[in-house]
Amino acid sequence: MTPDTDPLLEVANLRTTFDTDGGELVAVDGIDFSIDAGETVCIVGESGSGKTVATESITRLVKSPPATVTGSVRFDGEDLLEASEERLREIRGYNIAHIFQNPQEAMNHCYSVGWQITEALTIHTDASQEEARAKAIDLLDRVGIANASSRFDDYPHEFSGGQKQRVMIAMALVGDPDLLIADEPTTALDVTVQGQILKLLDDLQEEFDMGILFVTHDLGVVAQIADRIVVMYAGKVMERGDVYDVFDRPAHPYTQQLLECLPGTSDSIGGIPGSLPSPTDPPDGCRFAPRCEHAVADCEAGGQPREVEVRPGQAVSCVYYQSGYDASVVEADTGDAETSRGVGDD
Ligand code: SF4
Repeated sequence: MTPDTDPLLEVANLRTTFDTDGGELVAVDGIDFSIDAGETVCIVGESGSGKTVATESITRLVKSPPATVTGSVRFDGEDLLEASEERLREIRGYNIAHIFQNPQEAMNHCYSVGWQITEALTIHTDASQEEARAKAIDLLDRVGIANASSRFDDYPHEFSGGQKQRVMIAMALVGDPDLLIADEPTTALDVTVQGQILKLLDDLQEEFDMGILFVTHDLGVVAQIADRIVVMYAGKVMERGDVYDVFDRPAHPYTQQLLECLPGTSDSIGGIPGSLPSPTDPPDGCRFAPRCEHAVADCEAGGQPREVEVRPGQAVSCVYYQSGYDASVVEADTGDAETSRGVGDD
């Protein structure tokens, strides 16, 4: 897709650090990405790669102090890192909505789900109680809660896990958001319910023309919903691009290994050997160097290699794509197009 307008969200050089007793912890270290209206961008990486902190930094949900967030987060032309707390509260209610992994923790168990949605509606809109009730029932109906009007007065514990996540999505839609940030929203659900929720998000995106920023460690989920993918490792972006390009021809050794870990592939049982580096003492060079079978001396110093575009829209941060290196050394590991798409589509 070639957008003819500015992106809905444009993140530039985003850096989030935390003051800790063990020193400065760098969770996100200068990342860039953008989302257009109606587009789904997935941020992918292992637990601890910084993807959740990155998305929570967008609307400054990370607590500061101890966090410090720098860089630029332009939403519809406005820099959210410069916005007042009052303005951010408005944006969080109307324009950018978050859905979290565990709806259990995000709901108040002392109030009915209908009351909670109505409350959000009356805070964020000028709807009367009667109008708010009608809209809440409509939202519950649209997210697939059967007999929505009779479930209005039910309490969260009377809903299944999948239904609770649907209710959370209904709450997120209260302000007709332009951007939905969904952080592992299906991880706690079984595969069938997960598929239903992903389909629901897809349908709602089409209906509302929302941008969706989806955080996951599950490349199977990415294959189902993403337009573009951003692969993060230890606070840095390793690779980005159109989801078809990255799945068919992953250029970065880390992306290649992630794809090899998909269920049904030869290395899926073992995972990637080694572990993430310490965020308080990251490697001087490429963050992936301690686990990379292709690492050479130049990978060990000089910071993360600058990103190089390997095909239109697909960029990679690895020395082998820079001048003077033979990219075929790492490209040799690139998965076969049919194989990688086939796995992802399962
Ligand atoms: S820069 Fe070096 S260590 Fe990093 S992915 Fe490329 S080959 Fe591996």
